[in-house]
Amino acid sequence: MPINILNLPVYHVTHVEHDDHDYHVKAEVKAPLTACVHCRSDSIVGFGRREQLVRDLPSHGKRVGIYVDTRRFRCRACSKTFYEPLPVVDARRPMTSRLIEWIGKQAIKRTFASIADEVGIDEKSVRSIFRDYINELEKTIRFETPKWMGIDEIHLVRPRGVIANIQNNTIVELLPNRNKETILRYLSGLDGHEQVQYVAMDMWMPYKDAVEAVMPQARIVIDKFHVLKMANEAFERVRKSYRESLTPKQRRGLMHDRFVMLKREHDLTDQDALKLSGWLNNYPELGRAYRLKEDFFKIYDAKTPKEALARFAAWDRAVTPDVKDAFSDLIRAWRNWQPYILAYFDHPVTNAYTECLNGLLRIMDRLGRGYSFEALRAKILFAEGAYKKQIIRPKFARRREEPAAGAFTVGYMSFGGEAPKRSNQHVEIEREVNFGVDISTLTRLIESGEI
Ligand SMILES: [Zn+2]
Repeated sequence: MPINILNLPVYHVTHVEHDDHDYHVKAEVKAPLTACVHCRSDSIVGFGRREQLVRDLPSHGKRVGIYVDTRRFRCRACSKTFYEPLPVVDARRPMTSRLIEWIGKQAIKRTFASIADEVGIDEKSVRSIFRDYINELEKTIRFETPKWMGIDEIHLVRPRGVIANIQNNTIVELLPNRNKETILRYLSGLDGHEQVQYVAMDMWMPYKDAVEAVMPQARIVIDKFHVLKMANEAFERVRKSYRESLTPKQRRGLMHDRFVMLKREHDLTDQDALKLSGWLNNYPELGRAYRLKEDFFKIYDAKTPKEALARFAAWDRAVTPDVKDAFSDLIRAWRNWQPYILAYFDHPVTNAYTECLNGLLRIMDRLGRGYSFEALRAKILFAEGAYKKQIIRPKFARRREEPAAGAFTVGYMSFGGEAPKRSNQHVEIEREVNFGVDISTLTRLIESGEI
């Protein structure tokens, strides 16, 4: 008698064959049926058999097929005929439940094609199992709605919307695009959206319109990262405009030293400073652009919106006509978004969050190749081991004496040796809060190839 290599105690293995690629296992249900599946009558008789092929988990690097010798019965009471139900087999697919679950989990980490190949089924089946698995996860996993929300963009084949929790450095949703309708639909359906206090974002009108429509109470803040990026880009425009007039050697030098020019002045080493002054002295326009870039950064040292506004006005007056074109996008952005840019000085978004997110954005490109949006979203949102959770204990409830129970309680204690349970009218239970996917953990998992 072959040993039960399936490790499925409800089945009796009758025969095992294998070749280079596959195991073919014959089996039957151990405990035969004793009652009719329709009317529960125990008056049933055997009515033939049929062989059903059920796919199972790959084993020892081989694909596994179980050929179940399924019994058919006829009920004497209701005259219906039926096959015995197969335990631990999926209700909808000829596969064991454990195989279905394994495919769902694997599909978050690997390509559908590699799973299909390992199990010996087609890619379409893997995709369909994955969809069902994700739908189940969607029902069970609930992220806490961020009080401080970040709306950002991530490039995965196309630009996608990322919804983040700024206070916890987590991601709570990935949206297929960053259109107004998509953001609107997401925000409207979000539990507790009326409690969102701040939304940090880039200067992208659809975000702003959607937030103002659905969450009028939330204060919009433009993350300084996006504004400063435009200052760097303005400087880069001036630097690149020199390329034509330089010799190839000078051009390479300018290219090489651009890192020094994009550094903040106070971060320069002595050597950096020497290199920089060489360029700035020889190319006055570049020097002026550098100064404007540096001075623009200093606006962000302001402590209040009022001070920032005054610094911007002074900066704006200092923009000389020769470099004005290069800085025009930045100046226009400031004018269009001024109240929201200034809101930052009341409610600064943490640098930790922005740095975390930018780290993730840099490495996401690699992950994006070969996956559908749904699979990528699942990889990011449902990756095991990346959640930031917290157990919220019930509020401390002051103990109250219950006058009538006093005497009785003493007797009870001496008798049972057990502390009496406090009867509490408002029993709160502790609950687990899931803040979403920790951005640095996710980044680490992607970098190490774990997802
Ligand atoms: Zn029956």
